[in-house]
Amino acid sequence: MLSAQTANQQILIVEDDEDTAEVVCTLLNEAGYQATAVDTGKVALSEIASMRPDLVLLDLGLPDINGLDVLKQVRTTSFLPMIVVSGYSRENEKVVALEAGADDFLGKPFSGDELVARVGALLRRIKWTPQAETKLKVRQLELDIPRRQATIRGERLRLTPIEYGLLVTLMKNAGHLVTHDELLRVVWGEEYVKNGDYSVLRVNVSRLRQKVEQNPRHPGYIVTVPGQGYRMPADRQ
Ligand code: CA
Repeated sequence: MLSAQTANQQILIVEDDEDTAEVVCTLLNEAGYQATAVDTGKVALSEIASMRPDLVLLDLGLPDINGLDVLKQVRTTSFLPMIVVSGYSRENEKVVALEAGADDFLGKPFSGDELVARVGALLRRIKWTPQAETKLKVRQLELDIPRRQATIRGERLRLTPIEYGLLVTLMKNAGHLVTHDELLRVVWGEEYVKNGDYSVLRVNVSRLRQKVEQNPRHPGYIVTVPGQGYRMPADRQ
């Protein structure tokens, strides 16, 4: 599994259960990443600032700060890829974590294969850059691909990597329907299509609308095509 692509990627594991932290650390190191673990929210925040990891695996149940608060605090300054891990794999908890800015959610217990696949899928998404275009424009929405910068009406949008991926995919296909499965496949990876993981898509689209739309309840950029997917109208309707 060792490859040049993963060899320099640092993953910070925030987990207070010593056994879990050790297992996860070993799994990720064997997959070729440089994984290190910390056991409190406070240390996590200082490590994120100093070591600048490529990805964070964040347990929600921490002894000092609530994992969700760690997540929100990181999100005020950074779009660092973050996967939330939780012992409570209830749908509600997942939605709350995604709304707070998590890129993905993993319920305990999870298999080692699943963990490595999710980490790889998220990191691949972030490396992914469309080859041909460098700039995309749909009405007042503009994307500078080499700089990974999106603006609306000239104002910079602060997007998470997943939101950015969704926006690029919809903009590249402006005027056309992009199905739920296509978005899951392009932005998250094939395994999400197999699992039919639509709530992760729904929550991220709704978050993206909050940033892009003047009135998120009546979206003009990310339009729902009921039962099928989404479409970004190319011209003003
Ligand atoms: Ca815990």
